[in-house]
Amino acid sequence: MSEAREYDVVVVGSGGGAMTGAFLAQKAGLSTAVVEKTSLLGGTSAYSGGACWLPGSAVQQRAGIADSTESAREYLRAILVEPDETRIEAFLAHAPELVAELEADPALDFEWLPFPEYYDAPGRVSFGRSIQPTNVKRGDLPPEVGGLVRPPVERDRLGEGGRNTLSGGQALIARLLDGFLREGGTVLTELPVTGFVLDGDRVGGVAAMTPEGPVEVRARRGVLLAAGGFEGNAALREQHGVPGDVAWTMAPAGTNTGEPIEAAAAIGAATDYRGVGWFCPGLEQPDGGGSFTLGFRSGLMVDQRGQRYANECLPYDRFGREMAAAPDRIPSWFVFDSREGGRLPAIAMPEGDPAAHLEAGTWVRADSLAELAGLIGVPPEVLSSTVERFNGFCASGVDEDFGRGADEYDTFFAGGEGPNKALTPCDQAPFYAARFVLSDLGTKGGLVTDEHGRVVRPDGTPIAGLYAAGNSAASVFGAVYPGPGAPLGSAMVFASLAVHDLRA
Ligand SMILES: Cc1cc2nc3c(=O)[nH]c(=O)nc-3n(C[C@H](O)[C@H](O)[C@H](O)COP(=O)(O)OP(=O)(O)OC[C@H]3O[C@@H](n4cnc5c(N)ncnc54)[C@H](O)[C@@H]3O)c2cc1C
Repeated sequence: MSEAREYDVVVVGSGGGAMTGAFLAQKAGLSTAVVEKTSLLGGTSAYSGGACWLPGSAVQQRAGIADSTESAREYLRAILVEPDETRIEAFLAHAPELVAELEADPALDFEWLPFPEYYDAPGRVSFGRSIQPTNVKRGDLPPEVGGLVRPPVERDRLGEGGRNTLSGGQALIARLLDGFLREGGTVLTELPVTGFVLDGDRVGGVAAMTPEGPVEVRARRGVLLAAGGFEGNAALREQHGVPGDVAWTMAPAGTNTGEPIEAAAAIGAATDYRGVGWFCPGLEQPDGGGSFTLGFRSGLMVDQRGQRYANECLPYDRFGREMAAAPDRIPSWFVFDSREGGRLPAIAMPEGDPAAHLEAGTWVRADSLAELAGLIGVPPEVLSSTVERFNGFCASGVDEDFGRGADEYDTFFAGGEGPNKALTPCDQAPFYAARFVLSDLGTKGGLVTDEHGRVVRPDGTPIAGLYAAGNSAASVFGAVYPGPGAPLGSAMVFASLAVHDLRA
């Protein structure tokens, strides 16, 4: 790379926040470079469902959804713990503006996504207020766009599948990249950022590493750090008390290891790690990985004593936090019967081949519950009575222990035929148990930012030229996961606010 790499704006990373910022900056006439560590763009965002929690926009209005900024404020007030009101107000005010700004471009188009929010609290919108980018056909994109977007998770991890229509997170990244390249933006891949170029106490660019040695990419106006969290870094996870494991995170291999966050902290940035992570139950894979799993249709989760400990249909982050709450829940065993022909009665991304699971021992199968208990090392009488009690709840329609099926989220994915759609008995041999670990969609603690996305010092003053969004920043929602699309929605809003500040 030549010495002369200099842009108005340098964006580090290429997830939903990064690409939103890069596209809007370039479109506003600021020369912008996306600097990405790997050879592909999109990170975990490309694996995602592409749901964006962006309340109060014209998209919800078009769909006739009873959403508004006011009800979103009411909802957040009810569920967040000691929020930064200034940032929350900035998020609420800018979310609809951002959607309007994006939809003004022919590359971007959104639709409402029915997907319930994660808390039964005032201001909640029935079936959710999330929006998603519309699908886009690979053939309708310039070839360089399709070639740069990270494949879906099942293809990236297991080599399965492949899509000619990009949906969800792939569509989001592809659409933003399409607009960015059309406006003349620059993409620099395989360039891991290791630190910052300082002009006095101002950030004037980034330092990165190539096989040929260190290089600088200078930024006349500023650097937007949107390089994910530190979910892929075992030492940082331990240091900041994030439960789970590097092997179980959903971030693409070799991506989010937190060096840019550390580098910002080293030049004086304040950090806040209390949000820890966006958690989920993870179906353990034969290779030791964990697959984000949601939408259990039948079956029950038991701890290492053979007992249930939570409503299995809880929103995944809340279930993940239940898993993390006691040591004998990681691993847990998900016990299910044969009513779905030996497939997991849930959405696992990816599920993997049942035969490979059985061979590896990540799943076991037995003709009776007592035999199954022996295979997973729990007392047979405990497992049998746990399942018997659960089946009784299925018959009555009331989960007296954990209230499964009482909330609209619980029944959204489940289509059971009994008195409670989320309660289907586990009674058809042979029986299965699948090993579950605590997975995450990324960490959510990091750099403290203000309402403009500026990275601040512990005294609250901004570090000139440095902005952060996405999982590189401490989440505006703290430890809470409000609803589908909260990671992407907040990343996109604060990246956009950063660009507004950079333009000023
Ligand atoms: C299966 C799945 C479904 C999901 N669905 C949704 C959903 O529908 N809605 C939602 O909001 N969230 C969803 N999530 C969560 C969401 O995808 C992530 O939390 C979010 O996308 C993280 O965004 P990010 O920009 O912080 O990180 P990423 O999207 O992971 O992007 C970070 C990028 O930075 C790059 N990078 C890292 N370090 C460096 C460095 N030193 N130098 C240069 N580049 C670097 C990485 O290689 C990566 O490409 C889902 C997650 C999964 C796994």
